[in-house]
Amino acid sequence: MEIAKNRVVSFHYALSAEGQDLESSRGGEPMLYLHGAGNIIPGLERALAGRRSGERFSVTVPPEDAYGPRNEGLVVRLSAKRLGVNPKRLSPGNVVRLKTRRGPQMARVMKVGRFMVDLDANHPMAGKTLTFDVEVVEVREARAEELEHRHAHGPGGHQHGGGEDSPAA
Ligand code: ZN
Repeated sequence: MEIAKNRVVSFHYALSAEGQDLESSRGGEPMLYLHGAGNIIPGLERALAGRRSGERFSVTVPPEDAYGPRNEGLVVRLSAKRLGVNPKRLSPGNVVRLKTRRGPQMARVMKVGRFMVDLDANHPMAGKTLTFDVEVVEVREARAEELEHRHAHGPGGHQHGGGEDSPAA
């Protein structure tokens, strides 16, 4: 069965950016998604269309088809007081939740001073050209519940707490 809209796809991938290995699903559950629902980045979803189980390919996705460009306006220096944190309890790489006018926003701690904290609220992969080495594992028709939720259910996909028999969430 080939990958098309409203089919559920599982695939293994290894992700690298600019020659650096970032993450891989191999050794764990394959990734599971509902095709055509925008569950994964657009450049990868497009490259998967029409593929079949067992197919293996590589695709390079520019930032505009992945996590978007970096926005330097999202790099900010805030007082620890305003953040409501004790700077002694923060280290670079920690993720904190910022309150913004547009709602909560996750930001990575870049640098911690005595009173000030430098933060970057860009997605860690923003601005990066990503290369995916993909192996399609399985393609099946989506179940009615999955179409209704606009995501795939099961290991590697969306989990609703109490397992697959729990009431729809
Ligand atoms: Zn669901």
